[in-house]
Amino acid sequence: MSATLLIGGRWREGALPPLPVFNPATQEVLAHTADASAHDVDAAVASAAAAFPAWAARSGRERAALLHRAAERFRAVYLEEAAVLLTRENGKPLSDSRKELLYSADVIDFYADEARRITGTHFSGDMGGTHSFVWKEPVGVVGAIVPYNFPVDLLAWKLGPGLAAGCTFVVKPSELAPLSVLRFVQAFLDAGLPEGVINVVTGGGAAGAALVEHPLVSKIAFTGSVDTGRRIGEAAARQFKRTTLELGGSAPCIVFADSDIRTAAAAALRRCFSHTGQICISVNRIFVERPAFAAFVEYFSVAAARLHVTADGVAEPNADMGPMISAAAVDKVAAHVADAQALGARAVLGGHRLTDGAYARGHFYAPTVLTGVTSAMRVMREETFGPVAPLMPFDSRDEALALANDTPYGLAAYVYTRDLETAFACARGLRCGGIGINVNDITDIRAPFGGMKHSGIGRELGEPGLDAYLEHKHIRLNAGGR
Ligand code: NAD
Repeated sequence: MSATLLIGGRWREGALPPLPVFNPATQEVLAHTADASAHDVDAAVASAAAAFPAWAARSGRERAALLHRAAERFRAVYLEEAAVLLTRENGKPLSDSRKELLYSADVIDFYADEARRITGTHFSGDMGGTHSFVWKEPVGVVGAIVPYNFPVDLLAWKLGPGLAAGCTFVVKPSELAPLSVLRFVQAFLDAGLPEGVINVVTGGGAAGAALVEHPLVSKIAFTGSVDTGRRIGEAAARQFKRTTLELGGSAPCIVFADSDIRTAAAAALRRCFSHTGQICISVNRIFVERPAFAAFVEYFSVAAARLHVTADGVAEPNADMGPMISAAAVDKVAAHVADAQALGARAVLGGHRLTDGAYARGHFYAPTVLTGVTSAMRVMREETFGPVAPLMPFDSRDEALALANDTPYGLAAYVYTRDLETAFACARGLRCGGIGINVNDITDIRAPFGGMKHSGIGRELGEPGLDAYLEHKHIRLNAGGR
């Protein structure tokens, strides 16, 4: 398979040598995709630009019907195949893949309904005889660039609202996990989406950069790392393009001694190690109030020792963790842990690669629990994006908040306490876009999702997630005609 460029409603090969897609658990080649050239990107953007006026002119009702059909088609026809591909290409166990894909279809359904609710406003002007109309119009052609860790879901967060608003798309999947995305897009074609409304350019950073630079692209919707986001933000700003940048995180989890420590430990554990720590809202740093610290470390590390790491997430769909995405990702985790240990941290659990038996051919790192950590360590300052849980005690709420805020990131945070005043004081004090109180996920389709500080610009999901694809146009009418 390398006819993976979708341009003008037709799947095509590229002119450049195709790119292999690897299974990170075995390093076997799963498939090849086209590596889009600048010429391919140009053709895809031209196709999206040509399709834009007609798609934008469709009624919300028509767009809604098409999106619902696509979601239904995906669930009915592609879900299982795409789930297996997702597990094979990015390593998450099959039950997590299914969950991601079902959520993706749900997001499309949610914004299909919203397509019918996009309206404008009218009001009488301040000066006699004038009237103001505010129209909401689609921003135009969108370049959607997504990462490997939730390749389909994070695309759905863009396609759902963008298509509902009347935008057309050029999608650039991650070169590391493009295969499940191709099945997702096929469901839209099957549902009868007009040709050119979604185009796909598979490839790496060069294809993404060509998309960002293209003058006919009005908006870039990007999810990925801070470094790539910075490059994209700079390039997009030169042409005043609209951007939504959903970037990295280093989520703190603050556990107060009044909480149910066993429950908090179990919740933090899941959010640390799910998808091998490769989630933007993974718990990266755990702060526990000192009287509860020893008990927390005990519960947490005992449960972490029981985590099952699978080398075959299809055969073991309910395993806790799979491989990391690449050798470079494992190297980064190993470097962060080595740095912490050199500065005095102790690995209560793990602290090494997994290389024996079933793990021998893939990219595996053991679930790792560190104590004796300080704010100077890379695990506390940078996004490790791997299965590492650094645990640190604190003595006061102010100290916990200062530690939690002491990174350039501001995406998610979690607080465990039974005290409402403490909970809301933390919610006020934390500089991040989403805060979970006694819950280890901040995602709800109806609520905005996104980051403060270096974690990005803009919001996805909820009402802001739709507004991000709409321009507000003001028409001022002098009804008297003078
Ligand atoms: P990445 O930045 O390496 O790649 C993301 C995408 O950008 C890929 O499709 C890649 O090909 C493309 N790309 C690379 N260079 C480019 C360039 N110069 N111009 C345009 N596109 C380019 O990220 P990744 O490793 O795939 O994903 C992991 C990162 O994503 C982590 O930092 C994680 O926190 C972040 N993330 C954030 C969110 C969020 O919602 N905030 C969600 C998931 C992941």
